[in-house]
Amino acid sequence: MELKNIIVCLKVVPKPEEVKFDPETKRLDRSQARNEINPADKNALELALQLKDKHGGRVIVVSMGPPFWDKYLKLAVAMGADDAVLISDKALIGSDTLPTTLTLARAIQKIGDYSLVLCGEESSDGSTGQVPPGIAEWLGVPHVTYVSDIEVAGEGLARVKRTIKGGHEILEVRMPFVAAVELGCNTPRFPDFRRKRWADREFQPKVWSIADLGLSPEEVGFKGSATEVVELQEAKPPERMKKKISGSPDEVAEELARVLLDLL
Ligand SMILES: Cc1cc2nc3c(=O)[nH]c(=O)nc-3n(C[C@H](O)[C@H](O)[C@H](O)COP(=O)(O)OP(=O)(O)OC[C@H]3O[C@@H](n4cnc5c(N)ncnc54)[C@H](O)[C@@H]3O)c2cc1C
Repeated sequence: MELKNIIVCLKVVPKPEEVKFDPETKRLDRSQARNEINPADKNALELALQLKDKHGGRVIVVSMGPPFWDKYLKLAVAMGADDAVLISDKALIGSDTLPTTLTLARAIQKIGDYSLVLCGEESSDGSTGQVPPGIAEWLGVPHVTYVSDIEVAGEGLARVKRTIKGGHEILEVRMPFVAAVELGCNTPRFPDFRRKRWADREFQPKVWSIADLGLSPEEVGFKGSATEVVELQEAKPPERMKKKISGSPDEVAEELARVLLDLL
């Protein structure tokens, strides 16, 4: 069976270890952090490319984010994606997952003719995991979480491997559907060097505004959001005890047990 469009939702995230907490403003300071494609989204892209290799179709990456994300979309194209769409609009600032999913769903509908929508299981910064099921709700299609593999099983039907506690289950799902792809389920391919050079120099992602998607400023951003961040607190790791235990093995074991019991 020939697949149609395979859409991959791709988010750009700051490297987690480089994000700082600003105690003055109580906000995350991402200004000094380097960015990367959200790791699970690379797994989603790899799965999309493997499906394309077997069953044809076009892999299209879609991002909702600021203009500088185009660099990461070009990287996805260098890895093998056929096309890229960046939804970028100042009105989107402050969007929680509700307008984020609405915007992505509208872009997917505008692209149209899709067999699958693949997302990462969660982002490494926001980490709500709400975006894939949210998109599916707006589109009115099924969704499957913790997906590690997808096989085309027949006309319009896919066999989906889904991780559960202690193993996995196989589901048969009618296409189109949204899949949240598990982090680390495959090894994302390296960008092709020639394709990367071409993408850097010549490829331009399509850039859409909210007006291009038929959305009004009231439906997105702070106004369109259902939630509001009222406070942010730093979760400080507990102080280390730095206690040295010495003596015979029996004495050390006894003292260690006492220390651990005190902590319970
Ligand atoms: C009240 C509130 C205000 C916020 N204000 C801002 C703000 O001002 N600026 C800001 O940058 N963020 C803001 N956010 C965060 C923003 O809502 C989330 O980044 C966004 O909704 C995605 O959620 P997530 O990171 O939890 O994604 P998850 O649901 O964890 O992501 C799962 C997968 O969905 C896909 N995905 C997620 N986001 C995108 C995207 N943007 N484009 C393409 N695919 C995507 C990816 O495949 C990803 O792996 C705000 C959140 C809240 C709750």
